[in-house]
Amino acid sequence: MRRSSDLKLNFRWQSVIDLKQNIENIGGQLLIEKGDPKTIIQSLLEEYSFDALYAPKESGTEEIQEEMNIITLFIKRKADVHFYAQTTLFHEDDIPWPIGKLPDIFTQFRKENEKQTEVRNLFESPQDLSSSISVSKNFDFSNLGINDVQPEEKSVLNFQGGETKAWERLNYYMWETDQLKEYKDTRNGLLGESYSSKFSPWLALGCSSAKSIFYQVMKYEKERKKNQSTYWMVFELIWRDYFHFVLKKFGSQLFQKDGIKGSEADWKWDLELFEKWMNGVTGVPFIDANMRELNVSGFMSNRGRQNVASFLVKDLGLDWRMGAWYFEHQLIDHDVASNWSNWAYVAGVGNDPRENRYFNILSQAKKYDAKGGYIRYWIPELKEIEGFNIHKVALMKETELERIESFIPEIYLKPIVDMGKWEY
Ligand SMILES: Cc1cc2nc3c(=O)[nH]c(=O)nc-3n(C[C@H](O)[C@H](O)[C@H](O)COP(=O)(O)OP(=O)(O)OC[C@H]3O[C@@H](n4cnc5c(N)ncnc54)[C@H](O)[C@@H]3O)c2cc1C
Repeated sequence: MRRSSDLKLNFRWQSVIDLKQNIENIGGQLLIEKGDPKTIIQSLLEEYSFDALYAPKESGTEEIQEEMNIITLFIKRKADVHFYAQTTLFHEDDIPWPIGKLPDIFTQFRKENEKQTEVRNLFESPQDLSSSISVSKNFDFSNLGINDVQPEEKSVLNFQGGETKAWERLNYYMWETDQLKEYKDTRNGLLGESYSSKFSPWLALGCSSAKSIFYQVMKYEKERKKNQSTYWMVFELIWRDYFHFVLKKFGSQLFQKDGIKGSEADWKWDLELFEKWMNGVTGVPFIDANMRELNVSGFMSNRGRQNVASFLVKDLGLDWRMGAWYFEHQLIDHDVASNWSNWAYVAGVGNDPRENRYFNILSQAKKYDAKGGYIRYWIPELKEIEGFNIHKVALMKETELERIESFIPEIYLKPIVDMGKWEY
C-alpha cells in the first residue's frame, strides 16, 4: 500500500501548483520533477551548474537523510549549501537548551521559552525572481499517478492546498469572523469549520508558518482582543514546536515500538481488528464516526484523534505504530513530528508525564457530544436513536430497541469491545 492517500497527495499537488503560480507572478520559474531527489538534483547540477542550494531544514529522520545525500552532491562540486530552520516558532539556536538536553516535559519547555525566547522576525517576501536562465518544462498531472479525489462535501472545510488558500483561511478565521477570540472555548469541538483554526494542513506543508501565524495573533491582540483564547493559539503552536524538537532529539528512536520512554506493553498485530478500526466498523459509534470522517475528508478534530488513538492502543491492544502509520497515510495535515509524537504520547511511550492515561470513550462522548449530533452526521443509519442513546446502542434494553423502527446495523448491536466497561 502507498504511504499517502489520494486525498493527501491532491492537497500537496494543489500546493505545488499554487507555489508555481505565485513564483511566476513575480517573474520566477518552478521546475517540477518526479523521482528520487538525489538523482534529479544530480542531473540538474550537471545541466545548469548551480552555485548554491537554499532549502528548508526538516526534522524527520528520512528527510534529514535526504538532506545529507544532497549536501554530499553539492560538496563534491564545491557549491554552497544553505539549509534554513523555518518550520518552528522558536529557532532551534535560540531555545535555552542544546537539542540533546531538551526537557522531557512539555510544561518546562513552554515556560522557559515563554520567559526567554524571542520569536525571530519574518523574512520579507521577494518582489522579483526573474532570471536569465530558462528552466521551465511542462509537467503533466497524470504523470503523478494520483487519482483526482476531493474531500467529501460533508468535510469540516473544503481544504484546498497552497499559500493563497492558507491566507484566505487565516483571514476568514481571525479577521472576517473573529473566531480566534473564542478559540479556547470551542477548540474541543467536532462539527463544522469554526471550532478550531484548521491551519494544520497548510502548516504541515509550509504553505504557512508558525511564525506568520504568531505575528498575526500578535496583531490581533493589539487591534482586536487579547484574551485566554489568543494565548491558547500560541500555546498550541508551542506544543507543535516541542514535538519537532523531540523528534530532532530522539531521531529514529521515536518510531520504535518502545518509543522514547520504553514500555513493557505487549502490543498485538491483529490485522482483522486493525481493519475494523481503519474502516470505522468497530461498532463503537464515537470511534466509527471519527474514522469515517478521516477516511472521506483527510481530517479529524484533535478530540477525535485522541479518542481513536487511545481506543486502538488501550482498548484493542494494537501496536500504536499501526495507528500512526494509518494517520500518516490518511491525514492531509500529516506532519511527521506532530503525528508520531502525539501517538507515542497517547500510547504511553512518549512525553506524557502521567502514567496510564486512558480515554473512557463513553464519558468522552458524553462530555463532547452529549446530544449525539456528531454521530447523527457521520452515521446516518443511527439517526433515529434519540439523544445520547445513539452512542450506546449496544447497551440499550431490548424493549427500548424494539420501539425504534429504523434498521440498526448488526455491528452497533455487537461492538468489538465490551462497552459495558465504560462508566459515564
Ligand atoms: C494521535 C494524534 C495525531 C496527530 N497527528 C497530527 C499530524 O499529523 N499533524 C498535525 O498537524 N497535528 C497532529 N495532531 C495534533 C492536532 O490534533 C492537530 O494539529 C489539530 O487537530 C489540527 O487542527 P487545527 O489546525 O484546527 O488545530 P487548532 O486547535 O486550531 O491548533 C492550531 C495549531 O496548533 C498546532 N497544534 C494543535 N494541537 C497540537 C498538538 N496536540 N500537537 C501538535 N500541534 C498541535 C497545529 O499546528 C494546529 O494547526 C495529532 C494529534 C493526535 C492526538
